[in-house]
Amino acid sequence: MDYKALAERLLPGEYPSLASYEEKYPPRDLPKGAQVTRLAPSPTGFIHLGNLFAAIANERIAHQSGGILYLRIEDTDLKRKVEGAVEAVKNALRYFDIKFDEGAEIDGDNTYAPWYQRQRAEIYRAFVKHLIEIGRAYPCFCTEEELTKLREEQTAKKEITGYYGKYARCRNLSEEEIYKNLDAGKPFVIRLKSMGNPENKIKFRDAIKGEITVTENDQDVVILKSDGIPTYHFAHAIDDHLMRTTLVIRGEEWLASLPIHIELFDVLGFERPRYGHNCSLMKQDGDTRRKLSKRKDPELSLEFYRKEGYYARAVKVYMLTLLNSNFEEWYLKNPEKPLEEFKFTAEKMSKSGTLFDIDKLNDISKNELSKLSAEEMFDFLKTWADEFGTEAQKGYFEDREKMLKVLTLCMGIGGKKRRKDFTTASQAMDFIKYFFERPASYEDYRVEKETKKAILEGFLAKYDPADDSQAWFAKIKEIAAEHGFAAEMKDYKASPEAYRGSVADVAEVLRIATTGKANTPDLWTIQQILGEEETKARIGAAM
Ligand code: GLU
Repeated sequence: MDYKALAERLLPGEYPSLASYEEKYPPRDLPKGAQVTRLAPSPTGFIHLGNLFAAIANERIAHQSGGILYLRIEDTDLKRKVEGAVEAVKNALRYFDIKFDEGAEIDGDNTYAPWYQRQRAEIYRAFVKHLIEIGRAYPCFCTEEELTKLREEQTAKKEITGYYGKYARCRNLSEEEIYKNLDAGKPFVIRLKSMGNPENKIKFRDAIKGEITVTENDQDVVILKSDGIPTYHFAHAIDDHLMRTTLVIRGEEWLASLPIHIELFDVLGFERPRYGHNCSLMKQDGDTRRKLSKRKDPELSLEFYRKEGYYARAVKVYMLTLLNSNFEEWYLKNPEKPLEEFKFTAEKMSKSGTLFDIDKLNDISKNELSKLSAEEMFDFLKTWADEFGTEAQKGYFEDREKMLKVLTLCMGIGGKKRRKDFTTASQAMDFIKYFFERPASYEDYRVEKETKKAILEGFLAKYDPADDSQAWFAKIKEIAAEHGFAAEMKDYKASPEAYRGSVADVAEVLRIATTGKANTPDLWTIQQILGEEETKARIGAAM
């Protein structure tokens, strides 16, 4: 068969030489050992924890080695493309402080551009043409229906599905048949002519999993679709080569495609990058562990963390804990150090399923947030509220002094021990709501209605905003005694039957009346922050 003529017929016209691409995209001038890594999402609009997982690993390894992290958009599949998806990727990753050096919509070196695969169609076609010329790719005229039928037939016979071996019908078309189909204007795709044999095993060194064995590919995969756009498999091989990628950390769902990728790199004469396949994130669901699912688990989407207002550093700390088995110990010793100082390695990444536990993340979040100053917390909450808060919540920040006092109190700053009540920005904003809005509802009072009223009346009669906390508490004790509650806890404990309750019950009435809640930080301070007028108004309203 005259492959050159066939290539010309299938992809007519002059294409730049392959050598010219090697020249245009030369090996990178980087120090020895520097790694070039990438993130290559499809613009589906859904960016998930697995992406972040891989992003952190790629980012750390690139920057730790003095290398490059770039962003490539794999948009070969138009059906999955969503408007604004690239922005979404960038926003999500910026939130977690993943810094790209170059790539799609990144302000950086553009030597290796374009970064969108659709804009690289000519490059891919040049390489496809070359494979046809050397007899390693061929046109396939099978229709969707024929392929569906083939798959059904294979499934029924319990055979591996796909286009391979004796099932690769178009592989053996004669020159005459091919031209007859072309003359008839039949649409076609280009397939790889695989030389692999599934009997052969390939030993492969995975950067994460170590030595693994995979089966040689024998699938004649589509490399160029009928619209002249390549498939992901083919495009990624060309791109990783021409963008001079040295290491690919990606999800283990790609492990199944690895044999195809190996054959593609080999047939194209490219040196392969190193691959590291990181394990999937699992969730404990009752007695079983399962993969996090888009449908069932909102926490899979990165959007969730921004909307809830997770503190980015906390998520990163948790991700690093899951990613590198020696991180937790390092962090315990170096809680104040920038996370970049931890020496990240692909070899220390988990080789099998990693359990993602949102409760663990919440604990880390509480801990991380408790380390902030009131000013830092102010900025963190305000940034969240500006984007996701209600109008009322945005208003909380108008009185900076007041907000700082609220945060100082709620975080226990200046106290014996920091409080750890804040998990996320949205939860914290809800937690401090009562400082800015009157209670819309009240938790249950332990005392009866009449008693509650009498206590509140007693308080209003004695209330003096100038009282310091001791004077204030002395009055609460008086009120307690006046209504048959023990003023001292020890008296109450000694003979509980002698009293209706203790001063704690009286304080609780005031607390609920002031804030709506039975549990709050120091009530005297809360009333100080609210001020005389508001305190009186709230007690009045509760009565
Ligand atoms: N475009 C692929 C994805 O959406 C990237 C796979 C890879 O990293 O090689 O996940």
